[in-house]
Amino acid sequence: MNMTREDIIKKFQDLNVWERGEERAPHKPLLVLYAIGKLLHGEDSLRYVDIEEDLRELLKEFGPWRPNYRPQDPFWRLRNVRNEEDKVWEIPNEYKIREGKRKNGKSTGDAIIGDLRQYGIGRFLKPIAEQLHNDFGLRFEIIGGLLGSHFPITYHEDILQTVGIELSFGIPNQPRDPNFRRKILEAYSHRCAICGFNVKLRDRPIALEAAHIKWRMAEGPDKEGNGIALCSLHHKLFDRGAFTLSDQLKIRVSEHVDKTSVGFEEWLKQFDGQEINFPPRKHIYYPNEDYTGWHLKEVFKGPHREKI
Ligand SMILES: [Zn+2]
Repeated sequence: MNMTREDIIKKFQDLNVWERGEERAPHKPLLVLYAIGKLLHGEDSLRYVDIEEDLRELLKEFGPWRPNYRPQDPFWRLRNVRNEEDKVWEIPNEYKIREGKRKNGKSTGDAIIGDLRQYGIGRFLKPIAEQLHNDFGLRFEIIGGLLGSHFPITYHEDILQTVGIELSFGIPNQPRDPNFRRKILEAYSHRCAICGFNVKLRDRPIALEAAHIKWRMAEGPDKEGNGIALCSLHHKLFDRGAFTLSDQLKIRVSEHVDKTSVGFEEWLKQFDGQEINFPPRKHIYYPNEDYTGWHLKEVFKGPHREKI
């Protein structure tokens, strides 16, 4: 089967359409993103039973609120397309999996969960998997389309971290650790290291991010010592160089921040000169000075604000 890049892009474009008007339907896009992440880590066939919990977590964190979550639906339904030539996903032994029946005998369209757990193995069609794996530009376009069509930009990095996909140009082949975000947030007990922010929505932290101290573009790794849990605001202030961390983990605020601005006192000045208030639980997670040193040199905006 010969498929051009354009053919493949077109197949995925259908997933970018919101079929039910304003009602969000990010389930298939999240599965596709997850499966691309796995593919990049060398797993091209996914047993449903192995990924069920990961997929449920993705739906809970990034999908719309539901009383319960059904990761089986995208896994089973993604293989269903109107035209055979639009197919991207297959379940090779789908004949072993029964669908539920309504009272009138018609199929519900949903797989029986026990069958799916026992027999369900899903994968991209081989030529698609190969091109997704080998062609960064193609991948970029498809992933960008899925993210851009279903999620505001504030979700993008969190989703990419969670599924282990790198999307920046320049470091296309550097795989990312899909556990980085979870490990860093756990290490910091789901709090911002600077201000302790730990608002949760149901049981999920929100506006809390696993920041890289040394940027990935500068080959900062996805590992302990290069990650720090920061609230969205401190993440942005850190990435823009409004503050940095000294090698003793003291917070140092740039003297170029406008001291009369609203928020300066409570978000920056009150922490200046202090050690981080909410350090990680284990020593190996403490920010490593190789990375804080890079941040100080390359990102921090100017000399340290003079202490008054
Ligand atoms: Zn914070």
